[in-house]
Amino acid sequence: MNVHAILCWVLAACTLVLAGCGKTAVSVSQQSLPVATVAIVMSSPTPFPPTRTPRPSPTSLPTLTSTLEPTPVPPTATPVTLTYVFPVRGERIEYSPYHHDYPATDIFCPVGSEFVAPTSGIVDFVNRVDRWNPATNQPEHRGGLAVAIIGDDGWRYYGSHLSAVAEGIEPGVRVEAGQVLGYTGNSGNARGTPPHLHFGISRPTTPDDWAVRRGEIPPFAYLQAWERGELLRP
Ligand SMILES: [Zn+2]
Repeated sequence: MNVHAILCWVLAACTLVLAGCGKTAVSVSQQSLPVATVAIVMSSPTPFPPTRTPRPSPTSLPTLTSTLEPTPVPPTATPVTLTYVFPVRGERIEYSPYHHDYPATDIFCPVGSEFVAPTSGIVDFVNRVDRWNPATNQPEHRGGLAVAIIGDDGWRYYGSHLSAVAEGIEPGVRVEAGQVLGYTGNSGNARGTPPHLHFGISRPTTPDDWAVRRGEIPPFAYLQAWERGELLRP
């Protein structure tokens, strides 16, 4: 009400002052308009504070958007059902809790056994060329042919020393639990050792992060559970 009164006063004053001024009045009134708005803003702090405090639209706005968001989210969240399978399909499979100097498991098996996705996810890393050179023994090449996926559970699963990568397995491709990713072998620094799948579980960093990718948590307990058909997630 006060603001309205002020506006009336300003308008009344303007019409009085500008009465009979002709064409110049337009430019004067245009200049005086911004001043009027400033005047309102200046005078407003007194009556407005009470209105401004409940106004904190910043707080009410996020609440509005967050109440809107939950509606579309559930449909995308529901379809993911996690299943786990043992990552090697074949016969004469042997593995132990032991792994030399970092957490991983070497699953010994005949060359050509199927390396399968332990759970559903997206292919993250693929190497189809064995670049390992015993003379230089570069750590990033020690795995030889390898595939890593990021599981729907958020963990990265890595298998290396493969003899071949399965057709169609490329970064970005979606795979289901039990889908063949490659075939076991002894590429990389497993050359000359009994053929095995080096199996690592790690946080998903970058695809080329070999130091993390090779394994961060001991997979042995999970492998045993999956072999028994139990659902145990890292
Ligand atoms: Zn290993």
